[in-house]
Amino acid sequence: MSAVPPLREDLRGFDGYRSARREAATGRSWLNANESPWASPADPDGRLRRYPDPQPAVLRDMLAAHLGCRPGELLLTRGSDEAIDLLVRGFCSPDRDAVLVTPPVFGMYAVSARLQGARLLEVPLSDGADDFRVDLDRVVDVALDGGARLVFLCSPGNPAGGVIDPDRLEEVALRLAGTALLVVDEAYIEFADAPSVLVRERPANLAVLRTLSKAHALAGARVGALVADPGVIGFLRHCQAPYPVPDPCARLAVRALSPESLRALQARTDDLRRERARLRDALATMPCVRRVYPSQANFLLVRFTDADAADAALRSAGIVVRDMRPMPQLGDALRITIGTAQENDAVVQALQSVGEDRA
Ligand SMILES: *Cc1c(COP(=O)(O)O)cnc(C)c1O
Repeated sequence: MSAVPPLREDLRGFDGYRSARREAATGRSWLNANESPWASPADPDGRLRRYPDPQPAVLRDMLAAHLGCRPGELLLTRGSDEAIDLLVRGFCSPDRDAVLVTPPVFGMYAVSARLQGARLLEVPLSDGADDFRVDLDRVVDVALDGGARLVFLCSPGNPAGGVIDPDRLEEVALRLAGTALLVVDEAYIEFADAPSVLVRERPANLAVLRTLSKAHALAGARVGALVADPGVIGFLRHCQAPYPVPDPCARLAVRALSPESLRALQARTDDLRRERARLRDALATMPCVRRVYPSQANFLLVRFTDADAADAALRSAGIVVRDMRPMPQLGDALRITIGTAQENDAVVQALQSVGEDRA
């Protein structure tokens, strides 16, 4: 039995849309895709006249080299949001198969499950003395009992920022082999002390989501990637929209992976980690702050004695943070993205006056 869980039975043999680009071999005159024979005035050199490569090879090879996987194990996606959606659509039959999530957590896993009609299994994080924790034994039990095809774990986690030990991730995958795919969302891994699970040998049913939206500072370009078993990648390619990566975005992403860009990235993430520590220390001593979670990502989850007042004070200073109060277990919490040093100072300053008049 393969370690990779079964793909949707009703899609067995499904080949997706055969785009002109997929069929094209070689030729001098390409008249197979109803493209324009002239260049757009907006694009005088005509680079965008043609449909792009569905999986731009230069970008795919560079990203695979950067991440430490083989090109055949990598699928380029329109942000990791698309990868999440593809996984759910490819693995979960509506009304039958389930997706397991660990709330409070990034909301797109549940959104994609809902849209697909997949059942949602929840194993809430427990709020321990030092951090939010995932009960991994319970994750495995609930996944096996509940017919989960996908288990999403986020490391570093959004919204708390904690990481999960890679040894434990591997163990979870091994226990789920043949029944579920463990998907580790590493959207924030560049900010963490721990290395990616991609630096090690991994079970065939362990998949990883990466993105250029966070540390690489290209959220607007919508470039993400799924790293998984080549069989999974091959199948999901057929489920994907025909041209997921626009050509200008692929070009930008290639530049973002140049050695110079990666050196700059390293310097920037080092700075950000220093800022994260500085903001955390400043917040931790404030009377209006109940608790700051230890974060390995580019944000801090903060509990306030009066989150309404804190949110209002930040807003009146023109600072918008993420209100976490609608989320389970987070009725008094805001999530603050680490900004520039000046922006972080402004956060501290805005919160300085909160609660003073009530003392
Ligand atoms: C921001 C974020 C993403 C989304 O990334 P895109 O590549 O921009 O779609 C994925 N996972 C988590 C946990 C995130 O916080």
